[in-house]
Amino acid sequence: MTKDCVLVINCGSSSLKFSLIVPESGKTLLTGLAERLLSADASIRINLDGEKIIDTLPAPYDHQSALSHLVSFLYEHKFEQRLLAIGHRVVHGGENYSQPEVVTEVVEKMIEALAALAPLHNPVNLIGIRAAKLAFSHLPQVAVFDTAFHQTMPKTAYLYGLPYQLYAQHSIRRYGFHGTSHYFVCKQFAKLNQQAMEQTSVITAHLGNGCSIAAIEDGKCVDTSMGLTPLEGLVMGTRSGSLDPGIVFHLCRQLGYSIEQVDNLLNKESGLLGISEISNDCRTLEEAIEDEDNAQANLAMDIFCYQIAKTIASYSASLTKLDGIVFTGGIGENSSLVRERVVNRLKLLNVVMDDEANSATRFGNSGNIAKDGATACWVIPTNEEWVIAEQTYQLINEAN
Ligand code: ADP
Repeated sequence: MTKDCVLVINCGSSSLKFSLIVPESGKTLLTGLAERLLSADASIRINLDGEKIIDTLPAPYDHQSALSHLVSFLYEHKFEQRLLAIGHRVVHGGENYSQPEVVTEVVEKMIEALAALAPLHNPVNLIGIRAAKLAFSHLPQVAVFDTAFHQTMPKTAYLYGLPYQLYAQHSIRRYGFHGTSHYFVCKQFAKLNQQAMEQTSVITAHLGNGCSIAAIEDGKCVDTSMGLTPLEGLVMGTRSGSLDPGIVFHLCRQLGYSIEQVDNLLNKESGLLGISEISNDCRTLEEAIEDEDNAQANLAMDIFCYQIAKTIASYSASLTKLDGIVFTGGIGENSSLVRERVVNRLKLLNVVMDDEANSATRFGNSGNIAKDGATACWVIPTNEEWVIAEQTYQLINEAN
């Protein structure tokens, strides 16, 4: 049997997402999610050929149990014979990694050391890598970093207005995240417009539960809205995005917040959820606006869209040309309301929306939603898993 598949693993603290992909075509053979890991009601769902197979997981209900279950499934369906390698999403690669890496002991140690910058993500990504090494000891493992695509930013964009030694000695700088997604939609934009990626300059807006925007000049990232952590930048589902750092002192000194409470407030209780006091979910807010004309939901959406438009407009200082704007992520791909509110604020950039195209371009469709003659404005569904599979495949081919 031909070896033609990569298993892509995205490991969270209590979840493990996976997909089996043919890197050359992007064909997805199966996808799945193990959730509520480390609790007795841990379960695993595998989607294969339109069928959903759901199972409970045995003790100790951990990432290893999930992978053992997946290995048995792959053997049962003879997929293991087609496996070339395992590709892992790793959140933080710091300044060390601007490209994917075959996982070696050195790379593992570096991912561990970089946990200082991403304490919530890198340690769980490592759990996934180590569990996969045990489960698939005969296969190469590749780490694909979420920060890698942003490593081309110039110092002007990535340094904060802080004493330089905090960067030099403690690596405090903007790194940016969602790099794989920004890279993918830029590449797709180039392909759809029949131009080389190296000559493509776009502003890409990844709008999901987490949201970030990137300015890409000639295929290289020159600025992005997330920072040292994914908290900076846009208002998101539950994250506040950028704010006056003085608010943190005020919360601690005047209102008695602890650091943990501030962390929780800014990461989990703010954003669309905090402003609307209804939900972090864009669909729920759209329903509240549509069905009951809810003013607070409307305000939350307005603030959200204003910040997106303001960030896009600010990147006219970062680029020397603009081929187009790209919307992606669950909200960017599906919410015509958000796109309309954003685009209506970008008239100075000559972005003019075609309302019909905007309403029609949802649910996995790609398309230009701008009027003829206006700055192109594309909706392009992202596919981070395909990028991870493709980069894993390329790297192991180069290594052989
Ligand atoms: P994550 O960052 O977790 O990968 P997604 O990219 O899946 O998140 O995006 C989740 C967001 O997309 C949610 O706010 C959800 O409401 C929104 N979304 C998904 N489908 C629609 C839709 N049809 N209309 C509006 N928003 C949607």
